[in-house]
Amino acid sequence: MGNETTRLLRDLVRFPSIGPGSETTDALLHLANFLDRHGIVVSIEERESGAPLLLATIDSGAPGQSVLLQGHMDVVPADHCWDRDPFGADLIDGTVHGRGTCDMKAGLASFATTLTAMVGASDFSRGRVTLLVDTDEETGSDACLIPWIAKNGLDGFDVAICGEPTGLRPFLGNRGLLWAELTFEGKAAHAGYPSSGINPVPSACRFIATLKMPDPIAAPYDSSGPTLTPTSFHSGISINSIPDRAVLGLDRRLVPGESPEAVIADLVRQLADFAVDDGVEVGIKIVKTWPPCLLDEGSQLATVARDISRALGVEDSFSFDDACNDASFLTSAGVPTLIWGPGPPERAHSSNESIEVSALELANNAYVEACLRLTGSSP
Ligand SMILES: [Zn+2]
Repeated sequence: MGNETTRLLRDLVRFPSIGPGSETTDALLHLANFLDRHGIVVSIEERESGAPLLLATIDSGAPGQSVLLQGHMDVVPADHCWDRDPFGADLIDGTVHGRGTCDMKAGLASFATTLTAMVGASDFSRGRVTLLVDTDEETGSDACLIPWIAKNGLDGFDVAICGEPTGLRPFLGNRGLLWAELTFEGKAAHAGYPSSGINPVPSACRFIATLKMPDPIAAPYDSSGPTLTPTSFHSGISINSIPDRAVLGLDRRLVPGESPEAVIADLVRQLADFAVDDGVEVGIKIVKTWPPCLLDEGSQLATVARDISRALGVEDSFSFDDACNDASFLTSAGVPTLIWGPGPPERAHSSNESIEVSALELANNAYVEACLRLTGSSP
């Protein structure tokens, strides 16, 4: 099983599946063919957005819980600091190198071989297990998973495991986010005659200086808590002109207990309170919201994962993901979701991303055991 997972992972890494597109679709087809060869019913839903979605289900034929295994096929682009071909999938001394090894084709490969190990196995005696693979998580899931859930819902699923890299430590949730673009509209003029224009740059800088940071509220586990970070600033077309506008980008991270709506209301209030006596007009555009999520640590899903992680000898204390991932959208749709996958999270998106074959083998064991317990097939 381990060799097969490694082979599948290397095959998937060789597709440079950066965002939705033909390479990502081909990678999805490769995964579908792998499952199909093992007699698993698999379908790929083409989508108008160009971001397809894969579904594969194994059914014991007996009542039991329905388990959803979820991951994404897209990867972030490779930077220029790699020591080897990021899409070469080199296997050296028990480590597979390449973009997407950790985040998160290792999780996908382990999910897939979990299905192939379980299908037709006598100890899989209750419930169902479904693999769902989407294709635009790294760019916000707006073209695939979010609209797919909006149309189909997730009512048929009792619990979900999102296979993002956590070193197989059970992560019970992730932060949410809100991206806002604040505009400061002035009036363009010759910089030699500044009084004939209205300069939005000093106004925007004053606003940044007065920006109220979020209250430090209790954040779960080892989360960084809520943060607010000015991340982009664009203004001006030439050094000798007063610009007509300045656009400030804000990245706000949310923890469970905070809602994007409340954060938006607070930002709008801060903008309204910002004393603009210089003729500059302010506006706000919400670019993206992503709700935070948190699984109950007393839930069966959390405790099963912790027990299995402990038995496998990996870090088993509950943790929390500071980044955002698809667990939020599964949770919002009503499915209790755990983030639990092979590979250290800090290697995701990094140069020289890699994963040890031993981590894949651990994940295979963990996922098969979890699926048997969660479906009710084993105690
Ligand atoms: Zn990911």
